[in-house]
Amino acid sequence: MKVFKFGGASVKDATSIKNVADILKQYQGEEITIVVSAMGKTTSRLHAVVDAYFHQTGEAADLLSEVSAFHYDVAKELFADEQHPIFSTLSDTLIEIEWVIEDPVQDSYDYIYDQIVSMGEFLSTRIVAAWLQASQISCTWLDVRDVIATDNTYRAAQVDMPLTIKRAKQVIPPLLKSGFVLTQGFVGGTSENFTTTLGLEGSDYTGALLAHSLDAKELRVWKDVPGILTADPKRFDDAILLPELRYREAVEMTYYGAKVIHPKTIKPLADKDIPLVVCSFKEPSAEGTIIKRNAKDVTSPIKVVAPNQIVISISTGQLDYISEQHISHVFTLLFEHRLKVNMSHHTAVSLTICLDDTSAVKSFLELVEADYIVKYKQDLTLMTIRHCSDELAVQAREQHNPLLEKRTETTYQLVYSSNE
Ligand code: ASP
Ligand code: MG
Repeated sequence: MKVFKFGGASVKDATSIKNVADILKQYQGEEITIVVSAMGKTTSRLHAVVDAYFHQTGEAADLLSEVSAFHYDVAKELFADEQHPIFSTLSDTLIEIEWVIEDPVQDSYDYIYDQIVSMGEFLSTRIVAAWLQASQISCTWLDVRDVIATDNTYRAAQVDMPLTIKRAKQVIPPLLKSGFVLTQGFVGGTSENFTTTLGLEGSDYTGALLAHSLDAKELRVWKDVPGILTADPKRFDDAILLPELRYREAVEMTYYGAKVIHPKTIKPLADKDIPLVVCSFKEPSAEGTIIKRNAKDVTSPIKVVAPNQIVISISTGQLDYISEQHISHVFTLLFEHRLKVNMSHHTAVSLTICLDDTSAVKSFLELVEADYIVKYKQDLTLMTIRHCSDELAVQAREQHNPLLEKRTETTYQLVYSSNE
């Protein structure tokens, strides 16, 4: 039993969907559960529908028609026969959103978001499943809400693992007897049958949850990059592919802002020693990167660059100590705003933290400014270098002239102005 995950870029148009089918043909006869994301930019386009509806701008219906037209066009390119059942299936799926946006706004933003945005995954999986069937690849379409059980924290739903495992074991193995099982990433369901989502880019996490639940042999994530590289090749031309990596190293990379895999993906896999393979749908026979427990040590430096950072320095008064009580207060506020500290440092009189500069930071700042003396600087970049040699640290320091830095045995972090 294996789990495959195909992200939005791998199913962004008809040609890409055909490519996915070609890849899957090579695996016919194996027991594989396939998790698919929404096509291309659908998630953010549906997000725009939610905004327009929630704020009643009058544009929601038009924005939704664009999303519909896009999916119908892809389906028309794949299925010449206008009577093909996919067209009524798509219209049944879309009608659910049409009904929502016709009604006056009654529910919370996050609840509405999940009901509407999750439809991206329902549309994509319907089209991909129909294309696989038309290509003589047997597969069963599965509604993931029957398996992934969550609470009702809309947009960041927490998974009920024992119930999810129980349902996955009940539902999926019998279906695998007659071919692949294909389902939605990113989406879950509450005990009252409401739809939830697991956080942006959450389909990797869905793959990991299913792999864990089914004791899969591997989770294979198909991406538009050859695997995990030592740095973003768009920023560093010396970036190289890492053939293998320990779970721990992958967790550290995503913690510092590497975007290759969703941060929550590793834990459910590591718990059961299930390897994660990151490989390319553009080059399906290349090996990619394997993330597992006993991988070889990484010796080359790994660079993770996180732009759009803010550094905030907090003190109580010019010469007053900043005490544990203050620090604990500030961190409680950070927790309540769901803010993650990328780097921190404190001296006798001040606490300095570096965060992703999001809208939540604004409301956090308003609160700390009421009780402390606060200074901050925006438009900063945080670079984290793992396995950083002394020589490389000196080089990076000279190049970036950091305003904040931190060095441990394995890691060097520096924060510098993005406008240099
Ligand atoms: N479609 C969702 C998103 O774009 C989930 C995913 O792609 O992993 O965030
Ligand atoms: Mg996506």
